[in-house]
Amino acid sequence: MAELTLDGVSVRYGDAVALSDVHLDVADGEFFTLVGPSGCGKTTTLRTIAGFEEPDAGSVRFGGREMTGVPPEGRDVGVVFQNYALFPHMTVAENVGYGLRFHEVDDPDSRVAELLSLVDLDGFEDRDPTELSGGQQQRVSLARALAPEPDVLLLDEPMSALDARLREELRREVKRIQTELGITTVYVTHDQEEALAISDRVAVMHDGRVEQVGTPREVYREPGSRFVASFVGENNLFDGERVADGVRVDGTTFTVDGLDAGSGHTTLCVRPEHLRRDAPENRFSVTVEQSEFLGEATRVHCDWDGRTVVWRTDDGVPERGERVELGFAPEHGRLL
Ligand code: ATP
Repeated sequence: MAELTLDGVSVRYGDAVALSDVHLDVADGEFFTLVGPSGCGKTTTLRTIAGFEEPDAGSVRFGGREMTGVPPEGRDVGVVFQNYALFPHMTVAENVGYGLRFHEVDDPDSRVAELLSLVDLDGFEDRDPTELSGGQQQRVSLARALAPEPDVLLLDEPMSALDARLREELRREVKRIQTELGITTVYVTHDQEEALAISDRVAVMHDGRVEQVGTPREVYREPGSRFVASFVGENNLFDGERVADGVRVDGTTFTVDGLDAGSGHTTLCVRPEHLRRDAPENRFSVTVEQSEFLGEATRVHCDWDGRTVVWRTDDGVPERGERVELGFAPEHGRLL
C-alpha cells in the first residue's frame, strides 16, 4: 500500500512559517499535484514527504506507517529535482545504476536497460550526461529515481528548465510512465495549466496552507475561494451584494443558478470564455481597451465602469474604444 497521508503538518524556518497545518490524503497509484505561486510551500511539503525536512508538528504516513524520524533512505521514495542533478562524471547507465546501489538486484545491467527503455532512451547507456539535451537528462533522472522501484515518486518542478514544447512532450511521457507503473506520485509545479493537464487531483496551496483539493475539473469549475478562482485559470471577480436569486454589482443585477437565500457581501466570479455578445441574460456594457491574439481565441481587456473585465472570444474582435454588450448564462456565474 502506498497511500500517503500528511496530518496537521507544520514546518517553521526560524520565525517563518513555511507550512501551517497541512492535511493531505494521496491515494495509492494517484497522480497528485501541489500547485501554487512561488513561496507557498510546495517544495517544503515535498521535502517533508521525502524526509529531508522533519515537521515541527503533525505526521507523515505511508500506507498507515508513521514516517516521523525515518531518514530519506528508509522511506522508499524516488525524487526528481528541477535541475537534473545527474552525476557529470558518470555515464547514463552508471547514473541510472546508482539508484540501485542500496538494493540487491539480480541483473543490474538489464534493469538499467529496462528503465532506459521505459523512458524511451534505449541505447543511450554509454553517453555522458553532457551529451544529452535537457529533456533527455530529465528522463535519465526519472529512470534513476524509478530504478529501486520506490513506493512513492516525488517530482519537484521537473520540467521548469525546459522550453514549452519539450515541457508538453515530457509531461505526456511522465504521465504515461506513471500510469504504466501505477506508482503513487506527488508532483510540484507553479504552472496551473500543467497541473490541470497531468493530475488525477490537485492541491492548490497559498501561504503555507492548502486552499483546495479536488480533481482538475472541480478546482477549475468550482473554486472554493477567491485565491483559487484567480490562480486557476482566469476569472472575472466582481464584489457585490446578495439579492434574491443573484447578486447586485452597483446598479446591475445578475442572476446566478442554484442559489440558496442569502444576503450580505459576495463575489461574483465569471470565466472570460463564458462572456458572450449573444448571451440573452446578465447583460452589461463595456468599453474595449486592448486585445491579445492567442491563436485559437482573442483575449480582450475591457473597462466596465472602472473595473477590468477580461473576455475571450473567437469571432470578430472589436476596435479599441468600441462599446460592446456582453452577457453570461446564469449557470456560468458563481458566487464566492
Ligand atoms: P517555489 O515555487 O519558489 O520553489 P515553494 O512553493 O516551493 O516556492 P517553499 O520553497 O516550500 O515554497 O518555501 C516556503 C516558504 O518557506 C517560503 O516563504 C520560503 O522563503 C521559506 N523557506 C524555504 N526554505 C527555507 C529555508 N531553508 N530557510 C528559511 N526559509 C525557507
